[in-house]
Order: sequence, then structure tokens, then C-alpha cells
Amino acid sequence: MPAPSPFLASNAGRVDAAADSVAHADAAASAVMPAGQASSPTQAADASDDRLATLLRSHRRLFVLTGAGCSTDSGIPDYRDRAGAWKRPPPIAFGPFMAEPLTRARYWARSMIGWRSFGQARPNRAHHALAALEAADRIELLVTQNVDGLHQAANSRAVVDLHGRLDGVRCMQCGARLPRADFQAELEALNPDWRDFVAPVAPDGDADLDGVDFSGFRVPAHAACGGILKPDVVFFGESVPRQRVLAASDALSRADAMLVVGSSLMVYSGYRFALAAAERGIPLVSINRGLTRADALLSFKVEEDCGDALARAVAATVLQPCGISDGA
Ligand SMILES: [Zn+2]
Repeated sequence: MPAPSPFLASNAGRVDAAADSVAHADAAASAVMPAGQASSPTQAADASDDRLATLLRSHRRLFVLTGAGCSTDSGIPDYRDRAGAWKRPPPIAFGPFMAEPLTRARYWARSMIGWRSFGQARPNRAHHALAALEAADRIELLVTQNVDGLHQAANSRAVVDLHGRLDGVRCMQCGARLPRADFQAELEALNPDWRDFVAPVAPDGDADLDGVDFSGFRVPAHAACGGILKPDVVFFGESVPRQRVLAASDALSRADAMLVVGSSLMVYSGYRFALAAAERGIPLVSINRGLTRADALLSFKVEEDCGDALARAVAATVLQPCGISDGA
């Protein structure tokens, strides 16, 4: 049973009911339309493209919120299924991590193994498209619920890592932040017998490894003060640092539209921004395969792969001179 992962990210996944309704629409269209004109999937994608491209053309100060669906194409799995429910045991919570040495040993053993894949992940088309939007001066701020640092790797600069970054380690006693790469080397040196384990990578950079005795795994304390070291991410049971929430809220107050990419918004830390956008009356748009908690608030939803939808819409707008002429 996996668990040692940070907070709960979001999810991307197609809602079966929605997929069915598309299929039924196809069948109905085929029945009444001559062959060659019954291309509902294409038409649906075209319509989504149009609406998304129009949004990008007519809004210059986007507040973008990204979730796990943005990183699945980079090989980082998500936590939730198409309906927004857990598809694996929930990630580790702050209380047990701090209170139980064996829980920490299990977390860091799995994390040490998972990091070798997670740390190698590279940005995908969704990250690159969002970086292109920023380069075209269309993004007020990008707030991500992901902890993988892939937006920065794709050259996005105005990024708030709402839930922290897995490439850092924090001392819970003195507050020092250490590079994960150094801590990884230390873990591997202390636990040579564990280096050969191979296990599938789990959503937050750990690995699906179980059925082993974790009690022999050695986890060093912070050398300077003896404090407990924890990945620099927000675990369940912890609050998002106030500074990050304020920075995001401030940007949202200046934004002229909000775009949610690959998040079901099941976690309140992200959902609250959708509520705030709706309250302000600015367009709220989601690119997500599956249910989102904000469905009732959305101006429209693009039920497609994030990378596909974003790459097309960005190519059709900011990367072409004709798309830049439309003002906000
Ligand atoms: Zn310390």
C-alpha cells in the first residue's frame, strides 16, 4: 500500500459518463448525417479549440492553476481516477510523519527509490505551451499544485509552487532548506542495500514499494541541529504557507480570466481560487479529462488531454501574428 507521498495533488481523468455522452452523440450524428459529415469528435475538438483560442486571444492577464494532469505525460502518475476519487491509498499525512520513526523510514525508503525516476522527469507539451504563453506576456501568474518543478524546467518564471517542491528538503527544527540531490546521495550512502530496489514511481516522487521491512532503513537527522528532515512539500494536515496564498490571491485580483489545467480541484487549496474567480465574475475555464469540483462554476470545459489542447490553442494564437492582433 503506497502512502509516503506528500499532499494530495489533483487529478485528470475522463469522466466515463461524459465519454459515453460523446459516443452517443457520435452514433446519433452518424444515423442522420451523410457519411463524411458525421465527425463529432473532430467537431467537438474544433469547438473546444475555438473557445480556448478565443479565450487566449482576448485575455492578456491569465491566472493559471495547474494540477497533476499537467504532468502525467511526463511520466508522473496522478492520485485520482476519472471521477475524482482516490485510485491509490491517500498520501502520507503530516502527523504520522512527524510522530513515527518507522513512518519516516518507510517514506524516505520509497522516496529514495522513486526519486531516481521522478528526478529525471522532463517537461511536456503542456508545460512548454504555458511557458510560451508567459513569454508572450499573457500570464499574470501560474500557480501549480504539482511539486515536480517542471514549469520552471520549461522556463516559466512567474510560478508559485502552492504545495512546495520535492527537490528540496526542510529541517523541521531549524528551518534550513537543503538540496534534495545532496540528501538523496546521503540516503543512498547510508542504505546501500536499498539502492537496487526497483518499483514503479508513485505520484509524488516516491515508489510503490511494499511488503518489505522498512525498520532497517536509516534516515539521517539534520547534521547541524539534529532536527527531523522532511521533503519541502505540504503534506496532508499541513497548511499552505500564507505567503503563497497571498501572492496567488493578489495575482488573481489582477487577472482577467482563470485557466485551470489538469486539476479536478478536489483540494480546497486550489478550489478556493476557482471560487474567487467566479465571485469576481471573470471567465473560468478548465482543461481536464473528468469531473472537477468547479464544474458548476465553469464558463466552459475542454475535456481533452492538456498537452494536446494547449499546444493547439497556443500555436493558433500567440505563436501566430494574426492571433496577437485581438485585444483584451
Ligand atoms: Zn536543522
